[in-house]
Amino acid sequence: MASSEVHEDAEALYEDAPVAYVSTQVDGTIIRANRTLEHWTGFDRAGLIDARRLQDLLAPGARIYYETHYAPLLQMQGSVNEIAVELVRADGGRLPVLLSSSLVLDPDGQPLDVRTTFVDASERRRYERELLRARLDAESRARSAVALGHVHDGVVLVDDVGQIELLNAAAERILGVTAAEVVGRPASEAVDGWSTIAAVAPAPPADSAAGRVVPVQRDGDEQWLSVAAADAGDGIVYTVRDVTDERRLEQLRADLVATVSHELRTPLTGVYGAATTLLGRHEELSPEGRRGLLELLVEQARRLAGIVDQILFASRLDGGGVEARLEIVDAADVLRGLGAGSHRLVAEAGEGIAVRADLDRLHQVVGNLVDNALKYSSGPVRVEVERRELSARILVSDEGPGIPVAERERIFEKFYRLDPDQRSGVSGTGLGLYIARELVDRMGGRIGLLANDGGATFYVDLPTA
Ligand code: ADP
Repeated sequence: MASSEVHEDAEALYEDAPVAYVSTQVDGTIIRANRTLEHWTGFDRAGLIDARRLQDLLAPGARIYYETHYAPLLQMQGSVNEIAVELVRADGGRLPVLLSSSLVLDPDGQPLDVRTTFVDASERRRYERELLRARLDAESRARSAVALGHVHDGVVLVDDVGQIELLNAAAERILGVTAAEVVGRPASEAVDGWSTIAAVAPAPPADSAAGRVVPVQRDGDEQWLSVAAADAGDGIVYTVRDVTDERRLEQLRADLVATVSHELRTPLTGVYGAATTLLGRHEELSPEGRRGLLELLVEQARRLAGIVDQILFASRLDGGGVEARLEIVDAADVLRGLGAGSHRLVAEAGEGIAVRADLDRLHQVVGNLVDNALKYSSGPVRVEVERRELSARILVSDEGPGIPVAERERIFEKFYRLDPDQRSGVSGTGLGLYIARELVDRMGGRIGLLANDGGATFYVDLPTA
């Protein structure tokens, strides 16, 4: 290759390099520039050479920076590298560039001129901006996730094919699952009772606060959820709140009202009837007839008082107002005065067994079991006290209809009755066994039913002293 060709190549490379070259005097006056700079700025050579200073090509902010920092630094260091500035084009448009300069010195070390390059930084600027946007995006997502984690309600996002995309900590707790095991799986497979939740149709966002309360079966227990669903475009966001406790309270309140109205009405009717008869037909009644009515009045009044006492006592138990005073007593003492001397009652106790109990409360418990046995059966009722390894066991058994296995825990619930409508004609509040269990708990003992066919056998275990 001839040397002139090499020269021409170098010239072409200089003129059309992907970098703008400019040589200036120390004060910035442009003395040479390549074609790239002409393209980028839109000024022709005449508009550049001796016509403008380098700083005149910069945006105002960059111009000040150039004067106050860049030029002095260049004087001190001899070079400055890759400072991000903006070029102002002839048409007013701007181009982000990286500015680098080096000072050319004469043999005496005096500054001769300055060589400067501009590198187009628009791609890089775009890339940086995208990077920044991506970071802000990620940060805002992370912050949303943190916020979601602190929301009291469960939030579940299900995509348009029914797979769980996201669920927060509250949803994990309420639905009894972990995100690790359910995210990415079909909700209907991953979450017990999902079909009930998914049956709640998405509402417009404005209505999403109004949840629907639905029952969900989980591990044999009934859980009540307030569910709201909202369309999220490519999926559905479900908000779930566990309202089981509120529901239970509501139910208890309803039960209380039902029991009070049911149970009080019968004796009240009796009282009213007996009293009006006594009042209106006093003269016509024989002394025996009058006495019978008065006895009825006393009996029904006692029953009424009993019901009210039971309701008040249960509410004292709930309020924590009942404590057991534990003493060492003989378990056999509990048999005294049981069953109001009913000829159907057979009581049996071996030698004395010292237990730690509150005798009055224990009497109340066993008395209730005996009253139930007498009330719900017609045959003999047995009460026995046995010694066990570390406890004494009191057994109350009857030969009545017994209690179906499935109901053996529920009968200890408040207001729970096997025959709520009293079809059998036997009345009760459904509070007796609830109170009994609460009292036995307070004595550190246990109450339950033995598994047997025919009749019911209740046991009360108490720790021996
Ligand atoms: P109640 O006031 O209705 O007797 P309890 O709490 O004492 O309330 O008992 C709850 C329910 O358990 C009763 O309504 C009854 O259906 C059932 N129950 C209790 N004891 C017996 C028993 N010995 N035999 C059959 N059923 C019983």
